[in-house]
Amino acid sequence: MDLLKLISAAGLLVFSVLTTGQKTAEWGYRGAYGPKYWNASYPHCNGYQQSPLDLETISTEPSSYSLLYTKFYSVKKPAVLTKNEHTVVLSFKDYYSERIPRVSGGNLPIGEKFEFSAIHFHWGQHSDLGSEHKFDGYSFAGEIHMIHFNRKYLTIQEASLHADGLLVLAFVLEAGLQNSSPTFSRISKQLELLQEENKPYSIGEIDLNSILDGVHHTNHFFYKGSLTTPPCSENVFWHVFTHPIRVSEDDMMRFRDIRNDEGKYLSGNYRPTQKRNGREILLKNDSKRFK
Ligand SMILES: [Zn+2]
Repeated sequence: MDLLKLISAAGLLVFSVLTTGQKTAEWGYRGAYGPKYWNASYPHCNGYQQSPLDLETISTEPSSYSLLYTKFYSVKKPAVLTKNEHTVVLSFKDYYSERIPRVSGGNLPIGEKFEFSAIHFHWGQHSDLGSEHKFDGYSFAGEIHMIHFNRKYLTIQEASLHADGLLVLAFVLEAGLQNSSPTFSRISKQLELLQEENKPYSIGEIDLNSILDGVHHTNHFFYKGSLTTPPCSENVFWHVFTHPIRVSEDDMMRFRDIRNDEGKYLSGNYRPTQKRNGREILLKNDSKRFK
């Protein structure tokens, strides 16, 4: 077994402990544990480069930086769903294998590659709330975060300590009468079983492109921000795609039924938008698809 991959996987576990709040100070989305109070235990949450943001689609001038590339996004891999105190996480089981999806190009540091780690979800109790980022003041039913880390660091844990350590591809979910993609439907239908069994749940083979279901255009905002959960580290290259992933109301309802171990609903697991504080926000507007 590749030692670096092993270290990397161990780092992933530590990272998920850090970002889910387990074994660290308690946090949540409501009341005394809500976002307003995160900074008491996690001072970075009061920083100047926080996420999410309300992004202006109309007044932002398109930029002309190079295309963002994904690699191995069409490779099918056995996936597993897990549930923690705050969200549902999708990751690949064969973390040690080759052909792990990755991202490069765009406005990222030249020559640096960011490797896929996991996907998690944010959603609300109704379809007009639930995304973390907003567009022109409007929220969507939910948001998918595809977490990647900079491969110049050995582990995601080490990467998360550096300002250029993490990359997120963010896609808002628009709920309506339409059907979800087959992959999104498959994920949402497994949520009930995940809820019942309360242990990592294998959902068969999945490729990342099938989750994106045709919205993987180059059209996205790019800015430097933070994790949207404690410890709110300011180390994320954000790519927020302007085309929503369209999903069915029924599938969003399945997310809304998910509860944590204490029986509380996970819905409403989105952080309010944060101040821009003069940060540069770029908009890549290009009808070409990335590979
Ligand atoms: Zn997130």
